[in-house]
Amino acid sequence: MSALDIVTWYVYLVSSVLFVAGLHFMNSPRTARNGNRISAVGMVIAVVMAVVRLVVSGFVSVTAVVVLAIGVVIGAVAGVVSARRVKMTAMPQLVSVFNTVGGGAAALVALDDILSSAAPSLVVLITAGLGILIGSVTFSGSLIAAGKLQGIRALRSIRLPGKGLWNVVTAVLMLASFVMLCVQPSQAVLWSLLTAGFALVYGLVFVIPIGGADMPVVISVLNACTGTAVAMSGLAIDNVALIVAGALVGAAGTTLSLLMAKAMNRPLHSVLAGGFGAGSGSSSQSAGPEGTMKETTPDDVAVQLVYAEKVIFVPGFGLAQAQAQRELADLGELLRSHGVDVCYAIHPVAGRMPGHMNVLLAEANVPYEELVDLDDVNPRFPSANVALVVGANDVTNPAARRPGTPVSGMPILDVDKAQHVVVMKRGRGRGYAGIENELYFRDNTQMLFGDAKASLQAVIAAVKELLA
Ligand code: NDP
Repeated sequence: MSALDIVTWYVYLVSSVLFVAGLHFMNSPRTARNGNRISAVGMVIAVVMAVVRLVVSGFVSVTAVVVLAIGVVIGAVAGVVSARRVKMTAMPQLVSVFNTVGGGAAALVALDDILSSAAPSLVVLITAGLGILIGSVTFSGSLIAAGKLQGIRALRSIRLPGKGLWNVVTAVLMLASFVMLCVQPSQAVLWSLLTAGFALVYGLVFVIPIGGADMPVVISVLNACTGTAVAMSGLAIDNVALIVAGALVGAAGTTLSLLMAKAMNRPLHSVLAGGFGAGSGSSSQSAGPEGTMKETTPDDVAVQLVYAEKVIFVPGFGLAQAQAQRELADLGELLRSHGVDVCYAIHPVAGRMPGHMNVLLAEANVPYEELVDLDDVNPRFPSANVALVVGANDVTNPAARRPGTPVSGMPILDVDKAQHVVVMKRGRGRGYAGIENELYFRDNTQMLFGDAKASLQAVIAAVKELLA
């Protein structure tokens, strides 16, 4: 081991420790920002060390330095601009795009390792092969996921013939190419390219049919794949920082996938087999629930809230879309100061990314203790005088309790069991799963149509008037 190797090893160890510490600080919303900063410092140290190592060891030509510098500048500018400019509501798509880039980069690093070694060992073939395979699946799968989160209609309407058959065929071809890569190193280039090609197709056919309640699980699975691909590439090129960073993301993503699958009542293997959440095509086209929607006014909602003893707020994606979290927190404060018992019902997949509502409400300084998880809040609905649904749709849809719909089997917030339900949404738009919500047609439900921010402001003004 040269002096440079020893220094590199220690520096990567320091950055790895910073990654672990950063992740630990992300345990709580109060320390999460510092966690992010600590991890970022770890990443900067690792990148600087990688550059120093390249320069000192004389590994790279002048052309390569120029290419690297251009790559770093383009990547840094794209990262900073997108992180600063992107709206909070588009954050889930951005995270999926980052997964795409991460998976693709890991696959390319692994591919380069195989292409540049004259006689790669079996260990390199296995680790680099897995890096190529998992990284390529993540690349194409996350790209489709980002498109679906962006609401690109064409992606949602694609129907692959022979449900599940494509997944099986491409999975077999992809795994067979990987095995051939390991047993026939003399044809390593051919087999690694075929592994990458079939893995790219598998990523497409895996994510395309998935919809409704399975999308959150798929997103966290793809996140876990990004980390695992990076760790495999790190093993292939013997880079401690890559191994640790990748393993952390892989382990955290796997834990999150298992928790999400459990919370959504979905066996993980069924989600991975594909198409689970697409539901029966006909159900989304059906005539819809019987009955009519009853409209209400901000004044009437204010009266219901002020005379209530117990109110449960049910935030959903529409709250994030309207950026109305501060108004909801203000209304909560106002009612609490009047002696009303207020809490926030948090569904694990409300919004468009895991923990979306927690992040949103933490931003508005809602105390963490007031956020109540699905299992704990559901028994409270029957004794709630008012359930105020703000931009939540699928996570409150009673259709989930019967089979044959894209949300079937997904645990929902039992909003319909509250004495009175007020739903704030702009109009008759459907939720992410694309089906009508039966809750809106129930006798105890009233609709307050309009942008959530404007509706909440009007209700706050009416409450203040009543309390004056
Ligand atoms: P939904 O997407 O089901 O519904 C959101 C509702 O908000 C819409 O019906 C819309 O109706 C309304 N809305 C939109 N903008 C506004 C606005 N400015 N003001 C008021 N209302 C508005 O949200 P949920 O949170 O209930 O459910 C989340 C869904 O997303 C689930 O199906 C989940 O599986 C899926 N998903 C979740 C992910 C996660 O990790 N959390 C990731 C990917 C998907 P209208 O247009 O009439 O206003």
